[in-house]
Amino acid sequence: MTKRLIFKGGHVLSMDPGIGEFEQGDVLVEGGRIAAVGPSIDALDAEVIDVSDGIVLPGFVDAHRHTWQSALRHRLGEISFSGYGCVMLRGFAPHYSPDDVHIGTLLGCVSALEAGTTTLLDWSHALNTPEHADAAVDALRASGIRAVFAQGWPRGDGQNWTTASTLGHPSDIERVRRELLFSDDALVTHAMAARGPEMTTEVIVQHDFALARQLGLRISMHAGTGEFGPKYRAIEKMAKLGLLGPDLTLIHLCTSSEAELRMVADHGVHACIGPQAEMMLDGAGVMALGRLMALGIEPCLSGDTETCGSGDLLTQMRIALAAQRMLASNNLEPIETPSLTPRQLLELATIAGARACGLSERTGSLTPGKDADLIVIRRSDLNLVPVSDPAGAIVLAAHPGNIDTVVVKGEFKKRYGELVGYDIPSIKRRAFNSRERLLALSNGK
Ligand SMILES: [Zn+2]
Repeated sequence: MTKRLIFKGGHVLSMDPGIGEFEQGDVLVEGGRIAAVGPSIDALDAEVIDVSDGIVLPGFVDAHRHTWQSALRHRLGEISFSGYGCVMLRGFAPHYSPDDVHIGTLLGCVSALEAGTTTLLDWSHALNTPEHADAAVDALRASGIRAVFAQGWPRGDGQNWTTASTLGHPSDIERVRRELLFSDDALVTHAMAARGPEMTTEVIVQHDFALARQLGLRISMHAGTGEFGPKYRAIEKMAKLGLLGPDLTLIHLCTSSEAELRMVADHGVHACIGPQAEMMLDGAGVMALGRLMALGIEPCLSGDTETCGSGDLLTQMRIALAAQRMLASNNLEPIETPSLTPRQLLELATIAGARACGLSERTGSLTPGKDADLIVIRRSDLNLVPVSDPAGAIVLAAHPGNIDTVVVKGEFKKRYGELVGYDIPSIKRRAFNSRERLLALSNGK
């Protein structure tokens, strides 16, 4: 018999405008999918999960995270954007073994689940050998999170991958697509983490886009960070080449021009921001959230790199909202931008992320027919009680410790405030060992 669960009596924030919000509502889950959402559902044979103490909402979607870096988290709290490239990408990354990628990815994903992220796009760009890619995919699967493996390129192989590179995207992406991630409805799916006009020649940009599209892969790419924005005008170049489309997600866009952001809007390109990293890395530019929203683009959110921030989306929502309201109310933006609300930030952290990952048919809202990716936040916790506005409570004040329950495709990953089914001591031990190894190899830079 198909397993049926009913999450009963919670404050339901469906994030689906057609369904709306219920002060007291039920979510029925059947065979890993959402079967019904409403104020009161009769399902006598279903196992009852009492969530009367909670706010029920879709799990968060982190649309850009370099999980391979997790074992080196929080080391770079005093670094600039260029310093990050120097220390992390050119310093540590060449020393990464497959096992370092594996534990970094696993640690990042399991921590993300604990913090309510049920979908994560793993922007994996320390793939020094094919075994590194295998390790990343294995870790994503082992974590139980819904993931997109966005496959990048190697570090430290002596080849020029990132400065006017004339090398096409590593062909290992074809092997991974063919052998590991050929199914588009599995929990772990596949995308290209592309380099684009800021790192390669136009010929290579065209080549890489053609390759991704031929393989049926979405494309995720950094653009418009720091001096790269005005120097390369990547979006303008891609527009001229006819490459912009809704299968592309562009990350950051801090220093992309207004004309370029309009091209993003006109072509239905998705945008993704990493609020804390953008503010922490001096020289990255000003978060583009307001400028994007002014053009009707809803960017998704990301934890980006844990080396200079928190991976949890609660933090990203809170920082983004505060920064945007400060910028807008003090006229610190080049154009008039809107002052945002907590509810809008929740949309960015859920359904906007699902759209950017090409997964909005499956996740991002509590909609019948989608997979049951949901979280329950305890509204009786001291830092939240008494809740007047659930979206406000979550975005302004909730922390991962308030998250009681996390469910991915109907399976409990966290319940009663504890992760379910993970060997946490082993993950911690392996992360510690990886960090020690990497520090020793790179002389602790
Ligand atoms: Zn990034």
